[in-house]
Formats: sequence, C-alpha cells, structure tokens
Amino acid sequence: MVKLNSGAILILSGPSGCGKSTLLKELYKNIDSYYFSISTTTRAPRVGEENGVDYFFVSKEEFEAGIQKGEFLEYAQVHNNYYGTSLKPIIKALEENKLVIFDIDVQGHDLVRKSQLNKYVTSVFITTPSLKILEQRLTSRATDATDIIQKRIVNSKTEINSIDLYDYVLINDNLEEASLKLISIAKVAMLKTSLFDKDNIIATWMAN
Ligand code: ADP
Ligand code: 5GP
Repeated sequence: MVKLNSGAILILSGPSGCGKSTLLKELYKNIDSYYFSISTTTRAPRVGEENGVDYFFVSKEEFEAGIQKGEFLEYAQVHNNYYGTSLKPIIKALEENKLVIFDIDVQGHDLVRKSQLNKYVTSVFITTPSLKILEQRLTSRATDATDIIQKRIVNSKTEINSIDLYDYVLINDNLEEASLKLISIAKVAMLKTSLFDKDNIIATWMAN
C-alpha cells in the first residue's frame, strides 16, 4: 500500500504521580506500532528502574556534553535535575510510521511545540482529580523521599497552569476509564491532517 501519512508524536505531561507511567502500560497493550522516547536524565534511578528502559541515566557532565553536541530535541531542568529527549531515534521512529510517545514536562512540551516537529504533535495534560489525591499517590507509590515528594507537590502547582496549552485534558480518577480515553486519543493522534501528504493522497485517489 502507498504510504500516505507519517508517524505521529503523542506528548503526555502532568504532575509527577498523576499516573502517566501507569496509563502508558495500559496504552501499550492496546496499540500496535509505537516507540516510547526514552529520555536522558541526571536524576538517580528509582528502585526497579533500568538504564536504557525507563531512562538513560547519565552524569551532569555527560548530559552537558550532549547539549553541546546538539543531541537533544529539547531538554529542561525539572526538580533540580536535567531531563532531555534525543532527536535521532525520534526521526527514525516517525519515518517508520510509529506513534512516538513522550513523557515530558510542560517546559519540554513548549519547546517541542516551537520546534520543526510541531506538526506531528498531539498533546495530553494528565492530572489527578485533586492536589490531595496527588499527594496521596506520591506517598503511597513510596519511591521518593519526603523532601523530594514535597518538591514535586510544589512544582505541580505551577505545572497545572499550563493545562490550557494542551490538546486534551485527562483527569486520571478511575484508571480503567482514563485508560480508555487515552487509547482513543492515541488512535486519533495518528489521523491528524498535518501528518498526511495531500498531493500523494489526491494522486493515489485519482489513479484508483
Ligand atoms: P507518574 O508516572 O505520572 O509519575 P505513576 O504512574 O507512577 O505516575 O502513578 C503514581 C502512583 O499512583 C502509582 O503508585 C500508581 O499505581 C498510582 N495510580 C495511577 N493511576 C491511578 C488511579 N487511577 N487510581 C489510583 N491510583 C493510581
Ligand atoms: P520523574 O523524575 O518523575 O521520572 O520525571 C519528572 C518529570 O520530568 C516529569 O514531569 C516528566 O514528564 C519529566 N520528564 C521526563 N523526561 C523528560 C524529558 O526528556 N524532557 C523534559 N522536558 N521533561 C521530562
């Protein structure tokens, strides 16, 4: 079949603890051709996190060398650590018609929106029904020390102000319902008009 459209980018942002990783696990069971953009970070791995799976864990010096070499599509400092998205694997996955999934913060979303890849982007802001529930989830996840949880809570109050810059808002209350909504968004993300080559569509349509 003639290739009419490219891959797409799905950006998920939202306060740490809102459920992005949990929702992504459900999404992966329900979509075929995707590529999760593994970010590079200077933060320490949490228990159970693997290098090259959850993140590429590097030193501050290595990260800054990557900045100098222009390796990142975007990068930002979040909760006092660097986080960044490498450009090369993204381009490859888009060429392979995949849905490229980013779990990045609001600064990263803003930068990708301003980049040459904007036409591929559909974005979702995910949050809990309340600040109190966010705090409960971060506490019961039990992966971070109390001071780190507090830093994430403080940051969430700023992040929530960017909610209207996103295409979709997803309140992650009931996990099953929120998962179904995210699956729908991921499916329509692949149908954005800007992913299609108009001339090619018309030529194919005329010829058949
Ligand atoms: P994030 O990736 O956004 O930091 P996680 O996916 O790690 O968040 O979720 C934070 C915690 O909240 C985890 O312990 C997870 O099991 C729990 N969680 C996620 N979604 C829900 C939900 N809808 N209801 C209750 N708990 C949830
Ligand atoms: P965590 O430390 O909880 O894994 O992530 C903290 C925050 O960093 C989250 O808001 C997450 O979306 C964001 N983040 C993860 N990777 C990237 C990235 O490559 N770029 C940017 N800008 N933010 C990221």
